[in-house]
Amino acid sequence: MRALTVADEARGVKLDDLGCIICLLYLDIFTPSGKHHLEGQTKEGCHLLTIPLCGKHHQIPSNTGEWICRHSAGKYSGKALFEQTYRPESELLQITNEMIGS
Ligand SMILES: [Zn+2]
Ligand SMILES: [Zn+2]
Repeated sequence: MRALTVADEARGVKLDDLGCIICLLYLDIFTPSGKHHLEGQTKEGCHLLTIPLCGKHHQIPSNTGEWICRHSAGKYSGKALFEQTYRPESELLQITNEMIGS
């Protein structure tokens, strides 16, 4: 993983305060989140291309389709279904950036 810059750290705090962007947009609730990297964790600026996702929306697959998980394998997981169900990641990034004012 690429080392965090001061700007990355500042963004991280704002993302933590915002909580999962999917839970916020679709359920209108705050859920503690981790960071999903749209373009990996090694390139310059990669930590600025991040959106906050909760455990379920990021890594924990559903057995029933109650939610769509961005990662992992299975019937209710994966980037394509995630973007189809919610929004393209690029749009989620844009919305996130607007919400945190950056
Ligand atoms: Zn969520
Ligand atoms: Zn991720």
